[in-house]
Amino acid sequence: MAKIINGRKIADEFCEQIKERVREVKKNGTTPCVALVNASDDPASEVYISKKKKLAEFVGISSMVYRFDDKVKESSLADLIRKLNDDNCVHAVLLQAPLPKNIRFRELVNLIHPDKDVDGLTTLNQGRLFSGEPGVIPCTPLGVLHLLRTVHDRLAGLHAVVIGRSSIVGRPLSQLLLNANCTVTSLHSYSQDLASICRTADILISAVGKPHFVEQDFVKPGATVIDVGVNRMEENGMKRIVGDVDFDNVSEVAGAITQVPNGVGPMTVAYLMHNTLKLACCY
Ligand code: NAP
Repeated sequence: MAKIINGRKIADEFCEQIKERVREVKKNGTTPCVALVNASDDPASEVYISKKKKLAEFVGISSMVYRFDDKVKESSLADLIRKLNDDNCVHAVLLQAPLPKNIRFRELVNLIHPDKDVDGLTTLNQGRLFSGEPGVIPCTPLGVLHLLRTVHDRLAGLHAVVIGRSSIVGRPLSQLLLNANCTVTSLHSYSQDLASICRTADILISAVGKPHFVEQDFVKPGATVIDVGVNRMEENGMKRIVGDVDFDNVSEVAGAITQVPNGVGPMTVAYLMHNTLKLACCY
Protein backbone atom coordinates (compact mmCIF):
# COMPACT_ATOMS: atom_id res chain seq x y z
CA MET A 1 0.00 0.00 0.00
CA ALA A 2 1.39 3.39 -1.04
CA LYS A 3 2.43 6.08 1.40
CA ILE A 4 -0.13 8.91 1.28
CA ILE A 5 1.37 12.29 0.52
CA ASN A 6 -0.79 14.48 2.73
CA GLY A 7 -1.04 17.75 0.80
CA ARG A 8 -3.29 19.32 3.43
CA LYS A 9 -0.78 18.77 6.24
CA ILE A 10 2.22 19.80 4.12
CA ALA A 11 0.39 22.95 2.97
CA ASP A 12 -0.59 23.83 6.56
CA GLU A 13 3.03 23.56 7.71
CA PHE A 14 4.20 25.64 4.75
CA CYS A 15 1.56 28.30 5.47
CA GLU A 16 2.81 28.62 9.07
CA GLN A 17 6.23 29.51 7.62
CA ILE A 18 4.64 31.99 5.20
CA LYS A 19 2.68 33.56 8.07
CA GLU A 20 5.89 34.07 10.05
CA ARG A 21 7.62 35.68 7.07
CA VAL A 22 4.60 37.94 6.39
CA ARG A 23 4.79 39.11 10.01
CA GLU A 24 8.46 40.10 9.51
CA VAL A 25 7.72 41.88 6.23
CA LYS A 26 4.88 43.82 7.84
CA LYS A 27 7.23 44.99 10.61
CA ASN A 28 9.29 46.58 7.83
CA GLY A 29 6.23 48.51 6.65
CA THR A 30 4.96 46.39 3.73
CA THR A 31 1.62 44.58 3.78
CA PRO A 32 1.60 42.07 0.93
CA CYS A 33 -1.61 42.40 -1.05
CA VAL A 34 -3.21 40.21 -3.70
CA ALA A 35 -6.06 41.24 -6.01
CA LEU A 36 -8.36 38.35 -6.97
CA VAL A 37 -10.39 38.98 -10.12
CA ASN A 38 -13.32 36.65 -10.73
CA ALA A 39 -15.36 37.02 -13.90
CA SER A 40 -16.06 33.34 -14.20
CA ASP A 41 -19.52 31.92 -14.69
CA ASP A 42 -18.31 28.65 -13.14
CA PRO A 43 -19.69 28.31 -9.56
CA ALA A 44 -16.51 26.43 -8.57
CA SER A 45 -14.52 29.62 -9.20
CA GLU A 46 -16.29 31.40 -6.35
CA VAL A 47 -15.35 28.51 -4.05
CA TYR A 48 -11.69 28.83 -5.11
CA ILE A 49 -11.76 32.61 -4.59
CA SER A 50 -13.21 32.19 -1.07
CA LYS A 51 -10.51 29.64 -0.18
CA LYS A 52 -7.81 32.01 -1.42
CA LYS A 53 -9.27 34.94 0.52
CA LYS A 54 -9.56 32.87 3.70
CA LEU A 55 -5.97 31.63 3.51
CA ALA A 56 -4.72 35.16 2.77
CA GLU A 57 -6.42 36.31 5.99
CA PHE A 58 -4.81 33.44 7.89
CA VAL A 59 -1.27 34.25 6.77
CA GLY A 60 -1.79 38.02 7.16
CA ILE A 61 -1.85 38.92 3.46
CA SER A 62 -4.33 41.58 2.42
CA SER A 63 -6.70 40.53 -0.37
CA MET A 64 -9.19 42.36 -2.57
CA VAL A 65 -11.83 40.51 -4.55
CA TYR A 66 -13.28 41.95 -7.78
CA ARG A 67 -16.38 40.11 -8.97
CA PHE A 68 -18.04 40.48 -12.35
CA ASP A 69 -20.89 38.61 -13.93
CA ASP A 70 -20.41 36.69 -17.17
CA LYS A 71 -21.75 39.64 -19.22
CA VAL A 72 -18.67 41.68 -18.38
CA LYS A 73 -16.81 43.25 -21.31
CA GLU A 74 -13.16 42.42 -21.92
CA SER A 75 -12.42 46.17 -21.93
CA SER A 76 -13.75 46.51 -18.34
CA LEU A 77 -11.46 43.74 -17.14
CA ALA A 78 -8.57 45.29 -19.06
CA ASP A 79 -9.23 48.65 -17.37
CA LEU A 80 -9.24 46.98 -13.95
CA ILE A 81 -5.96 45.18 -14.63
CA ARG A 82 -4.33 48.46 -15.72
CA LYS A 83 -5.61 50.13 -12.54
CA LEU A 84 -4.22 47.32 -10.38
CA ASN A 85 -0.88 47.51 -12.22
CA ASP A 86 -0.64 51.20 -11.26
CA ASP A 87 -1.67 50.66 -7.63
CA ASN A 88 1.47 50.53 -5.48
CA CYS A 89 -0.44 48.84 -2.63
CA VAL A 90 -1.23 45.82 -4.85
CA HIS A 91 1.65 43.38 -5.29
CA ALA A 92 -0.08 40.48 -7.03
CA VAL A 93 -2.96 40.07 -9.48
CA LEU A 94 -4.79 36.80 -10.11
CA LEU A 95 -7.26 36.36 -12.94
CA GLN A 96 -9.40 33.37 -11.95
CA ALA A 97 -9.95 30.92 -14.83
CA PRO A 98 -12.08 30.02 -16.66
CA LEU A 99 -13.36 33.30 -18.07
CA PRO A 100 -16.60 33.70 -20.03
CA LYS A 101 -16.21 32.41 -23.59
CA ASN A 102 -16.30 35.85 -25.24
CA ILE A 103 -13.24 36.98 -23.28
CA ARG A 104 -9.72 36.32 -24.49
CA PHE A 105 -7.82 34.92 -21.50
CA ARG A 106 -4.28 35.21 -22.88
CA GLU A 107 -4.73 38.80 -24.02
CA LEU A 108 -5.92 39.80 -20.55
CA VAL A 109 -3.24 37.80 -18.73
CA ASN A 110 -0.58 39.56 -20.76
CA LEU A 111 -1.89 42.93 -19.55
CA ILE A 112 -0.90 41.98 -15.98
CA HIS A 113 2.45 43.53 -15.16
CA PRO A 114 4.96 40.61 -15.11
CA ASP A 115 6.09 41.69 -11.62
CA LYS A 116 2.48 41.31 -10.36
CA ASP A 117 1.75 38.14 -12.32
CA VAL A 118 1.19 35.93 -9.26
CA ASP A 119 0.39 32.76 -11.24
CA GLY A 120 3.31 33.15 -13.64
CA LEU A 121 1.10 33.07 -16.72
CA THR A 122 2.31 36.06 -18.71
CA THR A 123 4.34 35.21 -21.78
CA LEU A 124 7.35 36.88 -20.16
CA ASN A 125 7.23 34.77 -16.99
CA GLN A 126 6.56 31.59 -18.95
CA GLY A 127 9.56 32.44 -21.15
CA ARG A 128 11.71 33.02 -18.07
CA LEU A 129 10.78 29.58 -16.74
CA PHE A 130 11.51 27.96 -20.08
CA SER A 131 14.90 29.66 -20.34
CA GLY A 132 15.75 28.88 -16.71
CA GLU A 133 15.80 32.57 -15.65
CA PRO A 134 14.32 33.75 -12.34
CA GLY A 135 10.67 34.78 -12.59
CA VAL A 136 7.25 33.96 -11.23
CA ILE A 137 6.36 30.26 -11.55
CA PRO A 138 2.73 29.03 -11.68
CA CYS A 139 1.38 28.01 -8.28
CA THR A 140 0.17 24.47 -9.02
CA PRO A 141 3.48 23.25 -10.53
CA LEU A 142 5.34 24.78 -7.57
CA GLY A 143 3.01 22.93 -5.22
CA VAL A 144 3.57 19.65 -7.04
CA LEU A 145 7.35 20.08 -6.89
CA HIS A 146 7.11 20.77 -3.16
CA LEU A 147 5.14 17.55 -2.63
CA LEU A 148 7.67 15.58 -4.67
CA ARG A 149 10.51 16.91 -2.56
CA THR A 150 8.84 15.47 0.54
CA VAL A 151 9.21 12.02 -1.03
CA HIS A 152 12.42 12.27 -3.05
CA ASP A 153 15.65 13.67 -1.59
CA ARG A 154 16.99 13.80 -5.12
CA LEU A 155 14.95 14.34 -8.27
CA ALA A 156 17.88 14.46 -10.69
CA GLY A 157 17.87 11.55 -13.11
CA LEU A 158 14.37 10.32 -12.27
CA HIS A 159 11.97 9.80 -15.13
CA ALA A 160 8.93 12.07 -14.69
CA VAL A 161 5.93 11.59 -16.95
CA VAL A 162 3.46 14.49 -17.01
CA ILE A 163 0.06 13.89 -18.61
CA GLY A 164 -1.38 17.22 -19.78
CA ARG A 165 0.32 20.24 -21.37
CA SER A 166 -1.78 23.27 -20.44
CA SER A 167 0.01 26.56 -19.87
CA ILE A 168 -1.17 26.65 -16.24
CA VAL A 169 -0.21 23.11 -15.14
CA GLY A 170 1.31 20.57 -17.55
CA ARG A 171 3.78 22.67 -19.53
CA PRO A 172 5.28 24.70 -16.65
CA LEU A 173 5.41 21.56 -14.51
CA SER A 174 7.29 19.64 -17.21
CA GLN A 175 9.72 22.53 -17.48
CA LEU A 176 10.15 22.82 -13.72
CA LEU A 177 10.98 19.10 -13.53
CA LEU A 178 13.40 19.46 -16.42
CA ASN A 179 15.06 22.36 -14.57
CA ALA A 180 15.31 19.97 -11.58
CA ASN A 181 17.25 17.59 -13.87
CA CYS A 182 14.53 14.96 -14.23
CA THR A 183 14.16 13.15 -17.52
CA VAL A 184 10.75 14.43 -18.59
CA THR A 185 8.11 12.99 -20.90
CA SER A 186 5.11 15.16 -21.74
CA LEU A 187 1.92 13.36 -22.80
CA HIS A 188 -1.23 14.85 -24.30
CA SER A 189 -4.35 13.94 -26.20
CA TYR A 190 -2.40 12.96 -29.32
CA SER A 191 0.01 10.68 -27.43
CA GLN A 192 -0.23 7.00 -28.20
CA ASP A 193 0.20 3.99 -25.97
CA LEU A 194 -0.04 6.10 -22.81
CA ALA A 195 -0.11 3.19 -20.38
CA SER A 196 3.20 1.71 -21.53
CA ILE A 197 4.95 5.12 -21.45
CA CYS A 198 3.54 5.85 -18.00
CA ARG A 199 4.77 2.46 -16.75
CA THR A 200 8.35 3.69 -17.29
CA ALA A 201 7.83 6.64 -14.92
CA ASP A 202 9.47 6.98 -11.52
CA ILE A 203 7.15 9.96 -11.06
CA LEU A 204 3.75 10.02 -12.74
CA ILE A 205 1.70 13.21 -12.70
CA SER A 206 -1.79 13.50 -14.15
CA ALA A 207 -3.27 16.90 -15.07
CA VAL A 208 -5.97 15.87 -17.52
CA GLY A 209 -9.34 16.50 -15.90
CA LYS A 210 -10.86 13.05 -16.46
CA PRO A 211 -11.93 10.79 -13.60
CA HIS A 212 -10.30 7.35 -13.42
CA PHE A 213 -7.97 8.25 -16.29
CA VAL A 214 -4.91 6.74 -14.64
CA GLU A 215 -5.50 3.07 -13.94
CA GLN A 216 -3.34 0.56 -12.08
CA ASP A 217 -1.65 -0.69 -15.26
CA PHE A 218 -0.26 2.84 -15.90
CA VAL A 219 1.92 2.63 -12.81
CA LYS A 220 5.32 1.04 -12.23
CA PRO A 221 5.46 -0.62 -8.79
CA GLY A 222 6.91 1.84 -6.28
CA ALA A 223 6.40 4.94 -8.47
CA THR A 224 5.27 8.26 -7.03
CA VAL A 225 1.85 9.33 -8.35
CA ILE A 226 0.61 12.92 -8.14
CA ASP A 227 -3.01 13.60 -9.05
CA VAL A 228 -3.64 17.20 -10.11
CA GLY A 229 -7.10 16.54 -11.56
CA VAL A 230 -10.22 18.00 -9.99
CA ASN A 231 -13.40 16.45 -11.34
CA ARG A 232 -16.87 17.07 -9.98
CA MET A 233 -18.99 13.91 -9.90
CA GLU A 234 -22.54 13.14 -8.92
CA GLU A 235 -23.22 9.57 -7.77
CA ASN A 236 -26.53 8.49 -6.22
CA GLY A 237 -27.48 12.16 -5.79
CA MET A 238 -24.25 12.85 -3.85
CA LYS A 239 -21.79 15.41 -5.19
CA ARG A 240 -18.12 14.71 -4.71
CA ILE A 241 -14.74 15.67 -6.07
CA VAL A 242 -12.40 13.06 -7.52
CA GLY A 243 -9.05 13.26 -9.24
CA ASP A 244 -7.78 11.69 -12.46
CA VAL A 245 -6.32 8.66 -10.71
CA ASP A 246 -8.18 5.49 -9.80
CA PHE A 247 -6.91 5.88 -6.24
CA ASP A 248 -8.08 2.58 -4.73
CA ASN A 249 -6.36 0.42 -7.34
CA VAL A 250 -3.33 2.62 -8.06
CA SER A 251 -2.46 2.97 -4.37
CA GLU A 252 -1.95 -0.81 -4.27
CA VAL A 253 1.10 -0.53 -6.57
CA ALA A 254 2.41 3.03 -6.18
CA GLY A 255 5.14 3.85 -3.68
CA ALA A 256 3.62 7.20 -2.74
CA ILE A 257 0.43 8.92 -3.88
CA THR A 258 -1.65 12.06 -3.37
CA GLN A 259 -5.38 12.06 -2.73
CA VAL A 260 -8.13 14.29 -4.10
CA PRO A 261 -9.21 16.32 -2.19
CA ASN A 262 -6.37 17.24 0.19
CA GLY A 263 -3.57 16.59 -2.25
CA VAL A 264 -2.37 19.20 -4.73
CA GLY A 265 -5.26 21.67 -4.16
CA PRO A 266 -4.13 23.05 -0.78
CA MET A 267 -0.57 23.40 -2.15
CA THR A 268 -1.81 25.55 -5.04
CA VAL A 269 -3.46 28.01 -2.66
CA ALA A 270 -0.42 27.99 -0.36
CA TYR A 271 1.83 28.86 -3.31
CA LEU A 272 -0.48 31.74 -4.22
CA MET A 273 0.43 33.16 -0.82
CA HIS A 274 4.10 32.31 -1.30
CA ASN A 275 4.18 34.06 -4.69
CA THR A 276 2.32 37.11 -3.34
CA LEU A 277 4.87 37.41 -0.54
CA LYS A 278 7.72 37.02 -3.02
CA LEU A 279 6.27 39.74 -5.27
CA ALA A 280 5.79 42.09 -2.30
CA CYS A 281 9.40 41.58 -1.18
CA CYS A 282 11.52 41.22 -4.25
CA TYR A 283 10.05 43.25 -7.05
P1 NAP B 1 -6.73 21.62 -19.59
O1 NAP B 1 -6.27 22.97 -19.97
O2 NAP B 1 -8.07 21.15 -20.00
O3 NAP B 1 -5.63 20.57 -20.09
C1 NAP B 1 -5.86 19.20 -20.05
C2 NAP B 1 -4.70 18.50 -20.69
O4 NAP B 1 -5.00 17.10 -20.71
C3 NAP B 1 -4.45 18.91 -22.15
O5 NAP B 1 -3.07 19.14 -22.35
C4 NAP B 1 -4.94 17.72 -22.97
O6 NAP B 1 -4.19 17.47 -24.14
C5 NAP B 1 -4.70 16.59 -21.99
N1 NAP B 1 -5.60 15.47 -22.32
C6 NAP B 1 -6.94 15.49 -22.46
N2 NAP B 1 -7.40 14.27 -22.80
C7 NAP B 1 -6.31 13.46 -22.86
C8 NAP B 1 -6.12 12.09 -23.18
N3 NAP B 1 -7.14 11.29 -23.51
N4 NAP B 1 -4.85 11.60 -23.13
C9 NAP B 1 -3.82 12.38 -22.81
N5 NAP B 1 -3.93 13.70 -22.50
C10 NAP B 1 -5.17 14.22 -22.54
O7 NAP B 1 -6.70 21.43 -18.01
P2 NAP B 1 -5.75 22.07 -16.87
O8 NAP B 1 -6.13 23.48 -16.62
O9 NAP B 1 -4.34 21.74 -17.16
O10 NAP B 1 -6.23 21.20 -15.62
C11 NAP B 1 -6.14 19.79 -15.62
C12 NAP B 1 -6.86 19.25 -14.41
O11 NAP B 1 -6.22 19.75 -13.24
C13 NAP B 1 -8.33 19.69 -14.29
O12 NAP B 1 -9.06 18.66 -13.67
C14 NAP B 1 -8.26 20.89 -13.36
O13 NAP B 1 -9.47 21.11 -12.65
C15 NAP B 1 -7.16 20.45 -12.43
N6 NAP B 1 -6.44 21.53 -11.77
C16 NAP B 1 -6.20 21.35 -10.45
C17 NAP B 1 -5.50 22.31 -9.76
C18 NAP B 1 -5.22 22.07 -8.31
O14 NAP B 1 -4.79 22.98 -7.62
N7 NAP B 1 -5.43 20.85 -7.81
C19 NAP B 1 -5.03 23.45 -10.40
C20 NAP B 1 -5.27 23.59 -11.77
C21 NAP B 1 -5.97 22.61 -12.45
P3 NAP B 1 -4.18 18.48 -25.40
O15 NAP B 1 -3.24 19.59 -25.01
O16 NAP B 1 -3.68 17.67 -26.53
O17 NAP B 1 -5.60 18.97 -25.58
